[in-house]
Amino acid sequence: MEQLMNAYIGCSYSLGISSGTDALLLALMAIDIQPGDEVIVPTYSFFATAGVVVRLNAVPIFVDVDPVTFNIDPKKITPKITSRTKAIIPVHLYGQSADMDSIMSIAKEHKLFVIEDGAQAIGVHYKDGRKAGAIGDIGCFSFFPSKNLGCFGDGGLVTTNNPELAERMKYLRVHGMNPKYYHKYIGGNFRIDALQAAVLSVKLPHLDQWSSQRRTNAGLYLDLFRKYGLAENTGKTVFDSKNRILLPHSTYQKSGVKNHHIFNQYIIRVEKRNALKKFITERGIGNDIYYPVPFHEQECFKYLNQGNDFPVSNCAAHDSLALPIFPELTREQIEYVVSSIAEFMEKHEASFPQE
Ligand SMILES: *Cc1c(COP(=O)(O)O)cnc(C)c1O
Repeated sequence: MEQLMNAYIGCSYSLGISSGTDALLLALMAIDIQPGDEVIVPTYSFFATAGVVVRLNAVPIFVDVDPVTFNIDPKKITPKITSRTKAIIPVHLYGQSADMDSIMSIAKEHKLFVIEDGAQAIGVHYKDGRKAGAIGDIGCFSFFPSKNLGCFGDGGLVTTNNPELAERMKYLRVHGMNPKYYHKYIGGNFRIDALQAAVLSVKLPHLDQWSSQRRTNAGLYLDLFRKYGLAENTGKTVFDSKNRILLPHSTYQKSGVKNHHIFNQYIIRVEKRNALKKFITERGIGNDIYYPVPFHEQECFKYLNQGNDFPVSNCAAHDSLALPIFPELTREQIEYVVSSIAEFMEKHEASFPQE
């Protein structure tokens, strides 16, 4: 499995790990994060991205996200760097790369490690053709069944091009043991189950096909939302009479680059989100909110006192809704989703002046 992943991701070393969360924890242990060190994370992500930092008694420093991609906004990183900052964890949220050029150049300037949280982004190409997990110092992936490449339970992966980090992670994965029963470092049991690794080896060759079906589904959504006059185009960040629904946008789309977006989630934004959620749930349409509470608002992070100056994340938490996007979705099912939403929108007049 690890060799297949090296070839697929385009990195020198891959190690199977027990979960995506453990992959992130192991990555931070490998770069020797110490109590009190600061690690920059987007405030809008799955909990694990920040949780692992605190588990090492380090401090997650929250940064707001970009209004189009919902990935960490590089312009907002530099003001948060201090003498204690050790690393940045960009998350490739929903299946699209973060702005890695800007992030890598900030990291270089300030001598920081970059740990890519690619849990939602296996196989994603950045605009230069490199894949998520092959750009930063370490890449972390999850094979939880809700991800694009899922195993039958929990599983994860770390990737790197750095032989020293690869070696450290190899030992830390098995309690820092080398040789047997001699422990150089304190690690954990972060091994992937052999059964899960076998499942992944069988499924990996199909991944690009599944991701391409997800992109096709996203294209269908765009056509249909347009047809109903609910969205003019993708990439809008403010609601207006022609864009009462805001659709996801592939920012790093380039010709010749295939997996610019793999749509782990298809996230729309709508002002009356909670009412719409209720409406489509009653119609039997699967949906979810990613993520209702940004890190700076989480009860367990209140003690960090990082304020509330995260306007983009606060809006996204308020108006985002994930629609079904899985590869096997049929055209009829997508039509049903969009026509149901159109029916809801007709009933609820917009809050901006009509033309
Ligand atoms: C799923 C996910 C994780 C954690 O992966 P697990 O395998 O569930 O532990 C971490 N970060 C992000 C962004 C995720 O989506």
